[in-house]
Amino acid sequence: QEKDYQFMLRTRSPGGYIPPSLYLTLDRLSDEYGNHTLRATTRQGFQLHGILKKNLKAAIAEIVQSMGSTLGACGDLNRNVMAPPAPYKNRPEYQYAWEYADNVADLLTPQTGAYYEIWLDGEKAISAQEKPEVKAARENNSDGTNLNDPIEPIYGEQYMPRKFKCSVTVPGDNSIDIYTHDVSLVVITDKNGNLEGFNLLAGGGLGRTHNNEETFARMSDPIGYINKDDVYSVIKAIVATQRDYGERFNRRHARMKYLLHDWGVEKFRETVEGFFGKQLEPFKPLPEWKYQDFLGWNEQGDGKLFFGLSIENGRIKDEGRFQLKTALKKIVEQFQIPMRLTPNHNIILYEIEPANQGIIEDILQQHGVITDASTIDPLIRFSMACPALPTCGLAITESERALPGIIDRIRTLLDKLDLKDENFVIRMTGCPNGCARPYMAELGFVGSAPNTYQVWLGGTPNQTRLAQAYVDKLPDEQIETFLEPLFVYFKQSKTQDESFGEFCHRVGFDSLREFSATYQPS
Ligand code: SF4
Repeated sequence: QEKDYQFMLRTRSPGGYIPPSLYLTLDRLSDEYGNHTLRATTRQGFQLHGILKKNLKAAIAEIVQSMGSTLGACGDLNRNVMAPPAPYKNRPEYQYAWEYADNVADLLTPQTGAYYEIWLDGEKAISAQEKPEVKAARENNSDGTNLNDPIEPIYGEQYMPRKFKCSVTVPGDNSIDIYTHDVSLVVITDKNGNLEGFNLLAGGGLGRTHNNEETFARMSDPIGYINKDDVYSVIKAIVATQRDYGERFNRRHARMKYLLHDWGVEKFRETVEGFFGKQLEPFKPLPEWKYQDFLGWNEQGDGKLFFGLSIENGRIKDEGRFQLKTALKKIVEQFQIPMRLTPNHNIILYEIEPANQGIIEDILQQHGVITDASTIDPLIRFSMACPALPTCGLAITESERALPGIIDRIRTLLDKLDLKDENFVIRMTGCPNGCARPYMAELGFVGSAPNTYQVWLGGTPNQTRLAQAYVDKLPDEQIETFLEPLFVYFKQSKTQDESFGEFCHRVGFDSLREFSATYQPS
């Protein structure tokens, strides 16, 4: 008899969009087939954990019938396309980011009918609609990117060498961690808000392997600017470049970031231009990036409201007095409102009539959910953890279950050192794949052995610089003795308004080590 294999199931939700019908279905499926929780991910999808193999087909079919999909949420193809989650109806650049996140997702959707044959007995889904211009762009043979493959004109028979990640954002909004994707587009509009084109970045990616110098986290590079009419051709040209030149023999060297690293930007750009058939224009100047989480109540620009809710480690559950799962189900059932999952594994409820603000807030509070973001410890608010144990098969150690306790201990230490007002970005993963993007954090923990972490320091509060590995193996129980000298040095020598990550980068690791070596606890 076959074992009861269990699976993780992940939604494809471009820009984090979850319509109410899909949310209610996922909530029910998590009880019927899963572990009674939903996990908002750091790529704006939902994960269901603990689905037995025999229930996969029923679960996926119900998701598709509820306007959702799991197609392309895993595998060697384009993954969930990210976009800022804020539903600003009066800011056209945000609307373009959503629109093009959807379009890029559709452009790079695999065309095989296998998904529907396996999971839906061949029934094509109602949600599988795309714009005619996106279909035309995919089938366009004149730009030199298409293969003579009757089913998969872009991917061909073998798909991509490795996963491929795209995002679309607006100038200044770094809620999506812009430098961590294979391809990112930045919406460029004229002064009246009309779409002109996109700045293009490529070659980011964080996954690596411990003790393998050939693998590394890498930030994307600015590549150029493209007119809006050329956006699909250029995306296809980049996919074709990675498809044809990406490493196909060694999976650990197969992400497109290694192509950028090995070739340099010039050769990469020239190859893309070769497929595209035209030259890219120079990258346009952009304002400084800001990290935004959009928590709390906000106007969405058309008279309605949106509400950003902090979800610690993205886990939607009922536990004791904390009944977040029940509260969200009640709200979505009663008001039939959509949500956007954020890249920081929080959620934004939107299309809220102002008259319903108080009722929604009451429902959340009656279920033990904190609604005032200003009362959440910023160490928690800006932190992220991947699921790791017990649901991720690649986990070396704990992450989601360990981080809350570790943040409590860090807060206690900061209080003891009279650094009460300090906060910084902490991220943790259970293995070096880096799903919670720890390499962009100010303090990153990356599982390296059971209850042991590699520690990364030196990222910025707005995720614009890669952190660096400071120690390889820090046992969990030594976190206080390890951090205390660093925090004391920080307190003594920081400049005004300098954050912990900025400080570590400025003084350098040699200086941090020297201080730690001579430090005497008082
Ligand atoms: Fe991703 Fe590794 Fe965490 Fe699993 S343990 S979720 S692969 S970072």
